Amino acid sequence: MMIPAIKLNDGCEIPAIGFGTFQIPSDGSTYEAVKKALKIGYRHIDTAVAYFNEAEVGRAIRDSGIARDKIWVTSKLWLQDYGVEAATTAIQTSLTKLGLDYLDLYLLHQPYGDVVGAWQALENAKEKGLIRSIGVSNMTPTLWKKYVPQFKTKPAVNQVEFNPYFQQRELRQLLTVDNVRLEAWAPLGQGNRDLLNEPIVQTLAKKYHKDAGQIILRFENQENIIVLPKSVHEERMRTNLELFDFKLTDDEVNQLRTLDNGKGRHDPDAPGVEQRLLSAFDVHSHD
Ligand code: NDP
Repeated sequence: MMIPAIKLNDGCEIPAIGFGTFQIPSDGSTYEAVKKALKIGYRHIDTAVAYFNEAEVGRAIRDSGIARDKIWVTSKLWLQDYGVEAATTAIQTSLTKLGLDYLDLYLLHQPYGDVVGAWQALENAKEKGLIRSIGVSNMTPTLWKKYVPQFKTKPAVNQVEFNPYFQQRELRQLLTVDNVRLEAWAPLGQGNRDLLNEPIVQTLAKKYHKDAGQIILRFENQENIIVLPKSVHEERMRTNLELFDFKLTDDEVNQLRTLDNGKGRHDPDAPGVEQRLLSAFDVHSHD
């Protein structure tokens, strides 16, 4: 299956769909899931230090037999490693855990703490060829306006919560100015039944002989958004990738746009988020 590529503002071409690995445990399940995903045809894997599964992702990539330059690999820096020095070390640790010489994309996973120092470490690593593209995640319009003007290099992507219930209109306008791509986390609303059962989604599924997940992901793709669906089930991995043999009409896209209620499950601007995230994920607890 041909997966379309999207050109980023730094010239790199990212596959429009990637395989998400959040909450897949490191007990062999991540290895199995990523190996299956690559066999099915995914060529873009999204992991993070805070998912504690980089080693299994890397092993699956190496064992897949697919050339390294045919797979797009993303990882993300976690909050305990912000600041230029800590981040520089952490990037090296990610590479070692993944067993890779370079990453295709590295993100600042959360916009708190010494964001500007952490970003400099990403810029330096890009300069050295350790990372091809650099980006941010969970930046709301407020956080984007606070930090990005202080960056020398513009982020290539901002990975945020996105699905038909939360279409990020204000943020998307802001990102367009610098040709920054939005990557959708929770593109399926984390399996939200209400979303999958929306009448318009069900009607289109019948019309196109597709399932609800495919209608939602195709809508997002037609909105120029990079999607990262996660599933540990082979059948869903397969259907979630089969998005490119049908096209929603403009009218159908407009109908899906009306599902937006402007609210997500996670609000990065809420007070206390940084502390909550720092204590929820301690990436050095096993050092
Ligand atoms: P998703 O929207 O991808 O939903 C995943 C859930 O939906 C799983 O429970 C999965 O179950 C289920 N599912 C998958 N496919 C289907 C389908 N076709 N029909 C019905 N249910 C389905 O949510 P995620 O939170 O996993 O987000 C995707 C990825 O984005 C993550 O894996 C991670 O890589 C990234 N992410 C990044 C964040 C950030 O802060 N930057 C935050 C959260 C996620 P099952 O596995 O049982 O099939």
